[in-house]
Amino acid sequence: MDLLDTLTAKGLRGETPTREEALAVLATTDDELLDVVAAAGRVRRRWFGRRVKLNYLVNLKSGLCPEDCSYCSQRLGSKAEILKYTWLKPGQAAEAAKAGVSGGAKRVCLVASGRGPTDRDIDRVTDTVAAIKEADPAVEICACLGLLSDNQAERLKAAGVDAYNHNLNTSEGTYGDIATTHTYADRVDTVQKAHGAGLSACSGLIAGMGESDEDLVDVVFALRELGSDSVPVNFLIPFEGTPLAKEWNLSPQRCLRILAMVRFVNPDTEVRIAGGREVHLRSMQPLGLHLANSIFLGDYLTSEGQAGQTDLDMIADAGFEVEGVGESTLPRHRADIAAAATGGCGSGATGGAGGGCGTAAVPGGSEGADAADGCGTGGGCGPCGGHGHAAPTADRAAEKAADQAADEVRTDLVRVRRRGAGTELAPNA
Ligand code: SF4
Repeated sequence: MDLLDTLTAKGLRGETPTREEALAVLATTDDELLDVVAAAGRVRRRWFGRRVKLNYLVNLKSGLCPEDCSYCSQRLGSKAEILKYTWLKPGQAAEAAKAGVSGGAKRVCLVASGRGPTDRDIDRVTDTVAAIKEADPAVEICACLGLLSDNQAERLKAAGVDAYNHNLNTSEGTYGDIATTHTYADRVDTVQKAHGAGLSACSGLIAGMGESDEDLVDVVFALRELGSDSVPVNFLIPFEGTPLAKEWNLSPQRCLRILAMVRFVNPDTEVRIAGGREVHLRSMQPLGLHLANSIFLGDYLTSEGQAGQTDLDMIADAGFEVEGVGESTLPRHRADIAAAATGGCGSGATGGAGGGCGTAAVPGGSEGADAADGCGTGGGCGPCGGHGHAAPTADRAAEKAADQAADEVRTDLVRVRRRGAGTELAPNA
């Protein structure tokens, strides 16, 4: 297939495809799907080998957000029966982080609901970072706290935070359909503030909100232009009690096409399968590892993932390996760029300066960023989507099935988190 030969050649050179080529990936048929995965898998292996980076979410503050992101279980007016609690104490957060690191995660993602942090909130996060790094100085920390005000990114950087997550979520053209309390430009501004302060930028998207193929391609190219070191790809978790509870627009095949498109457009960037992995890829999750080089271990912010051990078994069974703390996530040329921007260490050979570069904050390493159901990552937030411009999905059988389910709330597939941070029960890691 000429398209896939062209995309593979470009990806192996680290080049970005054209917009038309990216759209063509989303328009491939089910008969072509394994060829698409194989082609994008070659690009993935060229830059990331068979390594899978594990990230672990700690929801520092859950629910009760004044913002109205339609996809989010923590939004204003959400009726989702999620855990609601205010800021975890530093020791509590460090305990939760320890569980994830013990399970193999090299990055801990500290997430808090809300429009953005107060200066007092930055103090809390500073104390939390100190508690986590006291227990394990090598752990990478990504913060996801919403919209940043002036000088807050610099304070997080000084506190030892390595990366900042803030997703663009969807295209600029449809952003107003998914949230009205802030704008796409606000989100871009925060990613730029984080990057400007020397934090590794982590920014991604949510698919499945009723967006068109053009919207998906728009946001993925925008993320490439923003210079995100890590691109989390969330698949909408339609929580009961949110405006998007009935938006079941995804099939496993569609998710794989989206991941392949994101990989071709970001050949040498960390691509992370974020929230919705279990819900939408289901038994096809192992194929996703051929496209993405990063996942979350265990649970998401407000929903439960599969058991952490099941994640580890899946990685091993599929012939991949968990990325170690001494390994650089990003390829050398990208890690060096990230290090120059962040004042960190560079590409991550061992024994280097450490410092928190775009990629591995380990003694000598370097690497990149993010998360799942709330602000940054997967599960919670999302958009709206009207079906007015739904993707031209033709007549694929699996997507017909998804359409038939579109009017139902699928409580069988979405499990609200009831363990870990904010509860008395042990975390899933
Ligand atoms: S995505 Fe973040 S800002 Fe939006 S409603 Fe959810 S917690 Fe609030």
